[in-house]
Amino acid sequence: MEFAFNEQQELFRGAIRAFADKEVAPIARECDEREEYPLHILKKLGELGYLGIKFPSQYGGGDGDTVSAAIMAEEMGYASAGIFLGIYVHVFLALTAVHRFGNDEQKDRYLAPGIRGDVVGAWGFAEPDAGSDPGNMKTRAVRDGDTYILNGTKMFITNGNIADFVVVTAVTDPAQGMRGLSLLIVDKGTPGFTASRALRKLGVRASDTAELVFQDCRLPASQLLGRENTGFNDAMRTLTEGRIVSAAFALGLGRAAFDRTLAYAKQRVAFGQPIGKFQGIQWMFADMALGLEAAKLLTYQAAWRADQGLPYIMEASMAKLYATELATRIANDAVQIHGGIGFMMESDVQRFYRDCKLMEIGEGTSQIQRNTIAHQLGL
Ligand SMILES: Cc1cc2nc3c(=O)[nH]c(=O)nc-3n(C[C@H](O)[C@H](O)[C@H](O)COP(=O)(O)OP(=O)(O)OC[C@H]3O[C@@H](n4cnc5c(N)ncnc54)[C@H](O)[C@@H]3O)c2cc1C
Repeated sequence: MEFAFNEQQELFRGAIRAFADKEVAPIARECDEREEYPLHILKKLGELGYLGIKFPSQYGGGDGDTVSAAIMAEEMGYASAGIFLGIYVHVFLALTAVHRFGNDEQKDRYLAPGIRGDVVGAWGFAEPDAGSDPGNMKTRAVRDGDTYILNGTKMFITNGNIADFVVVTAVTDPAQGMRGLSLLIVDKGTPGFTASRALRKLGVRASDTAELVFQDCRLPASQLLGRENTGFNDAMRTLTEGRIVSAAFALGLGRAAFDRTLAYAKQRVAFGQPIGKFQGIQWMFADMALGLEAAKLLTYQAAWRADQGLPYIMEASMAKLYATELATRIANDAVQIHGGIGFMMESDVQRFYRDCKLMEIGEGTSQIQRNTIAHQLGL
């Protein structure tokens, strides 16, 4: 049994951590306060080749693995959850779907420029009445000769206002329910497609979130991604792999809250001693450290299984569920241990406290992860 990262993975962690420390962490608070997405970070990651870490070199990628993808998410999530969210959706949902299911022309048009950071992708799955329940999806794509006509609304779409293309899930065969969904790539500027409103949020405020509307939006049939009516399975495959990366993302956020709070507990004095000397506080740290170690093992084990070609549906859900709920618990304790200053907008832990909740909702809620685990147990 081998628990160590290989040399390449360690080198990559060092490089992405240095980037995140220098370029991302210093602007995290300001971007959150101004609710502004710093697109230049995504572009810089593209220039440095990091957006392509897990894609083949043929498209400008780094030929890396899922473990490296998880390392990137952990280090970037540590620096800023809000800033990384847009990068996560671009790379690990939009580009991943194009890589997995796209034809050569689509890969040349979206994957290679996406890896360079020249174009930004979004993932249009959720709708006002269908987040956990894709069987209730209403967005409809009707074939008309060599085109599809798309009608519907997508909700809570990260990068919605800034994306150059969106991978949209739509109903192509209503009689088949979830088996009648397809993925389509919609370019920004296509007549009938608008980002109708930007949405304001509790946390991850540096990310861009929009409602997207498609009104008689006509697309060439060549914009179909993968095969017609396999969209549900294709979306689930993309999301399942994404859950491993989401777990690493939450692990990074949990670690950030832990590190800030550990440093604070060593220097904040009450009753004549640092608060970290009180057993009540020490036990909170012991539980946090234990949780982080467990989340790390679950996350990297799931990533390793994906890289070995082993089944990982249950492991991905376990890692995502555990790491995201842990991040919420740690952020909660982080504010508590900081006391009043933790509640002030000038502290970082209040941001972590707001950011972490999204992790339990996006990419399949905690309840949906539990459903997946139970389903994998044959229930
Ligand atoms: C900031 C943000 C960014 C997002 N970005 C994107 C994006 O880029 N692309 C995208 O497509 N989506 C995105 N989403 C949407 C997100 O994936 C959905 O919000 C999420 O899947 C939950 O769907 P819902 O909001 O419709 O909640 P619902 O599905 O209505 O769920 C409501 C509650 O019911 C529970 N529930 C539902 N079904 C079951 C069940 N079978 N058993 C037990 N409990 C259940 C849920 O767990 C939840 O607690 C984003 C959301 C947010 C908040």
